[in-house]
Amino acid sequence: MKLVRFGPKAEERPGIWLDNTPAPGQASILDVRAMAFDIEDFNAHFFAGHGLARLANLLREEHPALVPAAGLRLGPPVARPGQIVCLGKNYAAHAAEFDAEIPDAPIFFSKAVSALNGPYDPILLPREARRVDGEAELAVVLGRRAQRVPESAAFDYVAGYTLLNDVTDRDAQRTGRQWYRGKSADTFGPLGPFLVTRDEVADPHNLRLFQRVNGHSLQDDHTSRMLFKIPFLIAFLSATITLEPGDILATGTPGGIGSARQPPVLLRPGDCVEIGADPLGLQRCSVVASA
Ligand code: MG
Repeated sequence: MKLVRFGPKAEERPGIWLDNTPAPGQASILDVRAMAFDIEDFNAHFFAGHGLARLANLLREEHPALVPAAGLRLGPPVARPGQIVCLGKNYAAHAAEFDAEIPDAPIFFSKAVSALNGPYDPILLPREARRVDGEAELAVVLGRRAQRVPESAAFDYVAGYTLLNDVTDRDAQRTGRQWYRGKSADTFGPLGPFLVTRDEVADPHNLRLFQRVNGHSLQDDHTSRMLFKIPFLIAFLSATITLEPGDILATGTPGGIGSARQPPVLLRPGDCVEIGADPLGLQRCSVVASA
């Protein structure tokens, strides 16, 4: 299934995206709340309460409540996750372009949940920011409370996968000694368009992951090149930190980011940033100067 949240900002409703419905080339959204009023949103409560199984049942109903997808705004496909845990330098090519040090243990940092943005919403450049660029990332959405999960069972704790653009203010990142501020400006976390459930992603380490700015390719790599893989990351983190349903684990970005290029490719008002991975869809965000 492809889960989406649709509607105006802060008023999104949970939905299931249906390609080629009602006709080839068209798409509809099954309005979950119209059919199951107690499913308030795709939040921790939903994932913990066997919500995905309930959605599968809704799809089997004879008269699903469908709305045409065209023209509807999408929000991030997870409602207010408890935390966004990100990984620094999880691809060798990116570690090389960042500071030439390949990590021998995963580098985790936190991105503010308030940074989350819809997959087609504008990215707002703060007035103070001079060097902002994007990072295409595969994001894992937890489906169950994870505590001391062994690597061999880690995928059982995954609800599905989505895309995160880990937009970064490079000056704030470099001068802050800690990355939180540089990673967490409002709108610096476009998420989606879909949360694709785990059963529909045969191997999350076999995805082509890319970023384009104004149509020009910046990043084009493969999730098989992650230094630390998803089962290890879930086992390592959950040994000491409880991960809750709906929490997001962003698995790091490949090489090719704009700020590391010569000359640098930095986001400017009017730019169009796209990130994609084949079964997870495509994000497309315009870049806008903050008022
Ligand atoms: Mg990143």
